Amino acid sequence: MPLQSKFPDLGLTIFSRMSALAAETGAINLSQGFPDFAVDAGLIDGVHAAMQAGHNQYAPMPGLPALRQAIAAKLQASQGVDVDAEREITITAGATQALYTAIAAVLRSDDEAIIIEPAYDSYAPAIIAQGALPVRISLSAPDFTVDWAQVEAAVTPRTRLIIVNNPNNPATSLFAQTDLDALAALAQRHDLLVLSDEVYEHLVFDGQRHLSVLSHPELRQRSFAIYSFGKTFHATGWKIGYCVAPPTLSSEFRKLHQYLVFSVSTPMQVALAGHLQIAGRWQGLAAFYQAKRDYLITGLLAAGFTLRPSTSTYFQLADYSAIRPDLDELAFAEWLTREVGVASIPVSAFYADGRSQHLVRFCFAKREATLDAAMARLAKLKA
Ligand code: PMP
Ligand code: GLN
Repeated sequence: MPLQSKFPDLGLTIFSRMSALAAETGAINLSQGFPDFAVDAGLIDGVHAAMQAGHNQYAPMPGLPALRQAIAAKLQASQGVDVDAEREITITAGATQALYTAIAAVLRSDDEAIIIEPAYDSYAPAIIAQGALPVRISLSAPDFTVDWAQVEAAVTPRTRLIIVNNPNNPATSLFAQTDLDALAALAQRHDLLVLSDEVYEHLVFDGQRHLSVLSHPELRQRSFAIYSFGKTFHATGWKIGYCVAPPTLSSEFRKLHQYLVFSVSTPMQVALAGHLQIAGRWQGLAAFYQAKRDYLITGLLAAGFTLRPSTSTYFQLADYSAIRPDLDELAFAEWLTREVGVASIPVSAFYADGRSQHLVRFCFAKREATLDAAMARLAKLKA
């Protein structure tokens, strides 16, 4: 029987495609966001010890209590918020599963969910899979500032959810308190739920602060906040994250979570619980990544790119207008991979209309040697 695809418009993600092209061509892979340096040896030892101590069977469905308590303590330290570890935190198989579960838990068919582009690639397919409709607001380079009046103008009686990503991949921008206030006011006026993807919470530079929806009294009542240990502990392949939401929302989230994955890797949860409690495990991340950002910036500027400072995440956007103005973003990213040997991500992949703004995204979560090698290749652009 010929299969009529339920998702005829979905292909392989840009991250998988660019990483595959980098592997095939031997390019240095600054495309897909993942660190190329080691996970803390103590954390790996912790997983090993947990397995040897017999922590190898199902964890409780919402996650190990010790890990949820350690996360609550971290949220108190980083955002000054009180979170009930028992009723408000659920451990997930990465942020991707948490995002999908929250979306599936609240959207009914024909509901609308507002997403703000450039948008991370998993939001729209998760909305569409529920029979709901993504309504897109597009922000433009170089500032990517949200016009909340424009967002409010997109609200209809069918709107149920607004998805935000702060710190933002790929814009590398951060919400100010005024953004949270505006979001809260419009969510309250129209009785909307908020899904806030905060996986880059600790990767915030130049002395700025990440303001979580959890820190805002109004948003706290109506938001799911999503996090990832992949980002915080340099372990994207472990696929462990969590969702923080008030008890009523967490309870709906868990109804689905228990049937999607039931529970998440036990020995890793044991190790993460111990690791989180050791002082300084996440506090140094901003300075660590800021130094990498500043290092890569020198090479990108020398190669002829125009840059807008990256204020957060582990990505740097680069305008290539002075190098190959004739190419659109995908063509430029492919050309740079094949001809120069450095892979990046075209920012057009984060827009449904695929618009080209002459911008590509480089990931600087790399060892100095990797960044050196990439910069040496990029230097040829000027030669
Ligand atoms: N949200 C954003 C904005 C991301 O950049 C990523 C991955 N880099 C994720 C979610 C997914 O996180 P995870 O790998 O934990 O599923
Ligand atoms: N979030 C990663 C990025 O932005 C990619 C993760 C993935 O490949 N799905 O590069």
